[in-house]
Amino acid sequence: MLPRAAVQALSHYSSASDHDATALNEAEIRSLAARFGSPLLLIDCEQVRRQYRALSAALPGVDLHYALKPLPHAAVVACLRDEGAFFDLATTGEVELVKTAGIAPERCIHTHPIKRDSDIRDALRYGVTTFVADNPDEVRKFARYRKRAELLIRVSFRSPDAVVDLSKKFGCEAGAVLGLLELARSLGVRVKGLSFHVGSQACDPSKYVEAINACNNLIGEALLAGLPALEVLDIGGGFPVAYNEQVPAIDEFCAPIRAALAKLPKHVRLIAEPGRFLSAPAGVAVSTVMGKAKRDGRWWYYLDDGVYGSYSGQMFDHAKYPVSALKDGTVTFPSVLTGPTCDSIDVIDDNIELPELEIGDLIVGRMMGAYTWASATDFNFFRRAKVVVVNERPAAEGRIVKLQRRR
Ligand SMILES: *Cc1c(COP(=O)(O)O)cnc(C)c1O
Repeated sequence: MLPRAAVQALSHYSSASDHDATALNEAEIRSLAARFGSPLLLIDCEQVRRQYRALSAALPGVDLHYALKPLPHAAVVACLRDEGAFFDLATTGEVELVKTAGIAPERCIHTHPIKRDSDIRDALRYGVTTFVADNPDEVRKFARYRKRAELLIRVSFRSPDAVVDLSKKFGCEAGAVLGLLELARSLGVRVKGLSFHVGSQACDPSKYVEAINACNNLIGEALLAGLPALEVLDIGGGFPVAYNEQVPAIDEFCAPIRAALAKLPKHVRLIAEPGRFLSAPAGVAVSTVMGKAKRDGRWWYYLDDGVYGSYSGQMFDHAKYPVSALKDGTVTFPSVLTGPTCDSIDVIDDNIELPELEIGDLIVGRMMGAYTWASATDFNFFRRAKVVVVNERPAAEGRIVKLQRRR
């Protein structure tokens, strides 16, 4: 991150109401690249705030716990802290990050379904008391912490349609929940609710609806069985963003989810764990053409960032980002964009329409805040992009539009 003074100097980068109008513009990106070099990952906190407010409005009554995994950056944590968000942690590194940001542990839950004893102790020492388990061995790990920790049971609802199906690796079958509740009761471990994750970049809200309805039934069955009442439902993350394909606006996407939540008993407290939705639009990757060659009649452009760097999400997250050149040109050609490493899989796009580029031209990847920098490597000694935070503080009211016009 930048020294504080530098960050404040960048705080005038502006925003307005609609996504494209608020995104960092060409002139702003050029001046940041001139000042900080390349490759860069720009994190625009104004976009984080916009996404947080949009999801809060779309899910009234649901506490939003930011899952740090897609963009574990202090500026994002601080920005969401100031918005009043809650946090979802999975590792001791994430515990350290929220602790450093001065976040009260009561605002955090720990949701890794499989933990070492040291992971549990690190989180407990910080003051987190809510954990997740999805199998008998994991529930048993909490017997010794029963006075200090409470559990959510993670249930699996497969979504083979989600881009990343997170119910394959984690979660118990719905039919196993009552058994786990009984086991927990016999050990004196308190289970306060249920959680699920329908899969990241979920394309269909009906997966949430099915999962919420199934959890509603489980809450009823637990009561009938005389087990302690389940008081929390955690609907996980997965909320989608528009990369290239069209994704419904978040309010529309959440409408059926709101309807399903409204049918739950009134005593059930609702929480969610959005990651991608809050962080993806905040990230802008800026890279530079470091060489070019014509091969088989096509221009190949070699950038200083690639799939081992910020574009790692193309491998790990199966994402395809909107990428463009900061260059006007009415004539475009099918071209190839590659990363800098000596590996042949390090190709960002092998068929992209671009004007003819020169060495030194800038390439911009949008929607690159989630699962990009977080999974980047320094392979081949190409260091990962430098992070520059802009709009760290909310702009004063009225300032936004004025600055946006100054092009
Ligand atoms: C990764 C993860 C999230 C965030 O998921 P998104 O799809 O990025 O919203 C939330 N909860 C858990 C347990 C996760 O592992």
